Amino acid sequence: MEDLLRGFEIEPGIKVINEVKENEDQEFIEKNKDFINKYITQNNMEQTSKENDSPMIFDIDDFVKDLNNLSRAKNFNIIKNSDKISGYDVSNNCIRETVFRILKYPVQDFSDTWLPVIMRAIIGNAIHSFIQNTYSGFTEKEVSLKIPSIRCSTRLDALMRDNVIVEIKSCPYTDYEKIIKTRKPRNSDFYQVLFYKMLLTNYLKECKSQNRENLRSDPPKLDEYNIRFLQLIYVAHDINAADCTSLNDAVNKARQIRKMLQTKSNPFSYMCVMTTDLNSIDVSSHMKYIIDKVNSINWYVENQKIPPMSDPFVNKKSCFFCLFKDVCRKN
Ligand code: SF4
Repeated sequence: MEDLLRGFEIEPGIKVINEVKENEDQEFIEKNKDFINKYITQNNMEQTSKENDSPMIFDIDDFVKDLNNLSRAKNFNIIKNSDKISGYDVSNNCIRETVFRILKYPVQDFSDTWLPVIMRAIIGNAIHSFIQNTYSGFTEKEVSLKIPSIRCSTRLDALMRDNVIVEIKSCPYTDYEKIIKTRKPRNSDFYQVLFYKMLLTNYLKECKSQNRENLRSDPPKLDEYNIRFLQLIYVAHDINAADCTSLNDAVNKARQIRKMLQTKSNPFSYMCVMTTDLNSIDVSSHMKYIIDKVNSINWYVENQKIPPMSDPFVNKKSCFFCLFKDVCRKN
C-alpha cells in the first residue's frame, strides 16, 4: 500500500528529530521550527528524567508516551521527504491535504490523532510481506513507478506477467463484510489500482528510465504491459480497528463472516480476492477522475495555490486523521 500507513520503519523518534535539524531540508525545518523547538526541548527533558528515574516495570502510560514520540518522528520524516503524488493521494486523500504537504505547509503537531494506527500499519506491512514472500505466482513485486513529469512517485504491490496488477489490502471486518456481500472492491482501492494501470500504460518509458539509485525498489521490468485484470487481495483484521469496540465485537464479526461464507473450517475465511476484468467494464469515467485529480494537484502546486473547500477533490472523511487540520482552518 503506497499509502501513508505503509513504508515507514520504526526508528527511535528522538534521534530522528534531532538529526533532522542539522542536515535536512532547511525550508521545511524553518517552516516547522516551532514544532521542532518545542518537541526537542520536551524530549530532552523527558529523556533526562527517564535516565535518572528509569521505570522498574512496563507501564502502559509510558508506552503511550513513547508511541507518541515515535508517531511524531515517523510522520515528520514521511512529510519532510514527501513532495510527490502517491497512489493514496489519488485514490483517497483530500486534495488540500496533498497540496499542503507538497508545498510544505507547517504542521502544528506531527503525532497521529489515533495512535493504534501505528500498530495497525505494522500488521498491514506484515500481511503484505507474508503474501508477497509466500506466493510464487508474482512475477514482479514492489514495483516503483516514478514519473517526474507529472510529479508522481508510488509503488504497486505485485504484477503477474504483463497483464495483472495485484494490490494487497488489510481492512477491518466491517469493510470485509461489505466487500464479500457486494462482491466489489472498495472504490478507493479500485482507483488506486486503476491509477497504476494508467501509469504503466501512459508513462512506462519514463518509469523505466529512472536511475535505480534514486528508487526504493525496482522499476517495471517489461517493455510493454497489456493490463487486463486488476486484483485486490483483502485480508480482514480487527483487534485494533477503530470501529471495533471490544474483543467480543471482533470475535462476533469474524463468526458472522464465516456464516456468510458458509464455512466453519476454512482457515482462510479472513482472506478474499476481488478481480476486475477490464474487458468486461467501461472504466473511462473512472480514468477521467484519476487524470483530472493528478492534473488538478499539479496545477495548484505549480501555481502555489491551495484548493478551495469547494474543490470536488476535497475529502472531509480524511479530516480526523489529517495532520494539516490547523493550517486548513486558517487557509
Ligand atoms: S482538515 Fe480535512 S479538509 Fe482540511 S486538508 Fe485535512 S482532510 Fe482536507
